[in-house]
Amino acid sequence: MDMAKALARTLWDEFTTEEDFQSLELPEEESRAFRWQAWLAIAGLWPLEDPASVDVVSTEQRIEVNLGDVPFLGIIDRVDRVNDRLVVSDYKSGTLPGSRWREDKILQVMLYAAALEVDLSEQPDRARLLYLGQRIVDIAVTDRKVAEATEAINATWVNISNACSQDQFDANPGVLCGWCAFATECPEGRAEIARRVAAGKMPNHAPAIALVA
Ligand code: SF4
Repeated sequence: MDMAKALARTLWDEFTTEEDFQSLELPEEESRAFRWQAWLAIAGLWPLEDPASVDVVSTEQRIEVNLGDVPFLGIIDRVDRVNDRLVVSDYKSGTLPGSRWREDKILQVMLYAAALEVDLSEQPDRARLLYLGQRIVDIAVTDRKVAEATEAINATWVNISNACSQDQFDANPGVLCGWCAFATECPEGRAEIARRVAAGKMPNHAPAIALVA
């Protein structure tokens, strides 16, 4: 943990000079809160595992393969070896969702497993979501789950391709409209933002609120 603190201090100093961070123009207090949140995420690993005991194969591994007909590009947070089998891990700093809402997160990590299998000709044994400071969601990787994830992304690809060729994109309003750069051009999105603002269900810091005001 002491080593993590020292590394975090050094990395924070570097990070704050980067253009992405500078462009946020955070006041001192918000910058401190950001730093604290980042540290809590790092410290949240220890309740889940002893990092010194992990046999890390790679971190931030960029992977570019075809999954069926879909060109797939992903950055995998971490790949480990446990009992000589690959384990794919994805860090999550948000709140652990209820089991009904985990499917898309599981699909994501299962797609990483599928991509690794294509890239390395080796099927990972486990796919894990590390909800920092909370718990690990651990899923066995099987041929069936890999096939389902691959079918799901291919079906999405077909839908996107059809929408592009027909120039027809159905609106899908939701809370993310508050962060959508197209909100000014999208009547459904504007209506959704207005509805959520009126109901107190849109965070005040959602940038699109100002765009559609
Ligand atoms: S504003 Fe429109 S385009 Fe953007 S997320 Fe909402 S529904 Fe989709």
